[in-house]
Amino acid sequence: GPMIEAREVALSFGETPALRGATLTVDAGEVLAVMGPSGSGKSTLLHCLAGILVPDAGEIHIAGRRVDTLDESARSALRRDEFGFVFQFGQLVPELTAVENVALPLLLAGTRRRAAVAEASGWFGRLDLEGLQQRRSGELSGGQAQRVALARGLVARPRVLFADEPTGSLDSLTGEHVLDLLVASAREQGTTVVVVTHEARVAAYADREVIVRDGKVTAPVLS
Ligand code: ADP
Ligand code: ADP
Repeated sequence: GPMIEAREVALSFGETPALRGATLTVDAGEVLAVMGPSGSGKSTLLHCLAGILVPDAGEIHIAGRRVDTLDESARSALRRDEFGFVFQFGQLVPELTAVENVALPLLLAGTRRRAAVAEASGWFGRLDLEGLQQRRSGELSGGQAQRVALARGLVARPRVLFADEPTGSLDSLTGEHVLDLLVASAREQGTTVVVVTHEARVAAYADREVIVRDGKVTAPVLS
């Protein structure tokens, strides 16, 4: 069955309606690109699906379980146990080394330090980051930092990876490389991906694309 089912999701920030009845289904293992103009509601939709924001109306089911009605601690556990995240500006913890950043989700899930660091380290070869384990985020290029963020998003083998403009801070060639690795790694472990972007080229990496316009999800006119 579907991994994500969102029905008629609505959310306003004060007087500003960000989502106005967004309906979306994402199959397990699918890579979905969520496109649309700036301010159309893409990030808000992603934050609702990921249990970061609670909608005013509608329903969200993840793997058959209703999640929009969960309280904050249950949503926090859901994010920790089932989801991975990649944001526009890597958002690595600057005080930690690259490998410690990648190990974080495993440590939060209760994995012992030695095993977490070993598992995290395994991602460095896979993502063309060989030898950079001990660097801090300030010592990495934008593309390297974004690949470290990607490893952190996938290391705990989440059911769903939520990526919000994961290449937005990168030049186009570096961005292509990160996207290529993101999609290949997710497919390898069967992770469902929801990637929000305003960049048309991202759609080429996805199984399907939807457009968010004025807070609603629509299919592309041509695909
Ligand atoms: P997109 O990701 O497509 O650029 P967003 O989901 O960020 O769109 O924003 C949708 C609308 O909601 C915009 O009008 C935006 O200004 C507004 N918005 C988003 N987040 C907030 C917030 N925290 N407070 C107030 N308004 C917000
Ligand atoms: P993105 O759409 O890529 O997430 P934004 O710059 O739109 O980036 O939003 C960055 C942060 O600011 C988000 O947490 C969003 O919820 C918040 N935000 C966006 N628009 C507004 C707004 N009009 N007022 C307050 N916060 C906003």
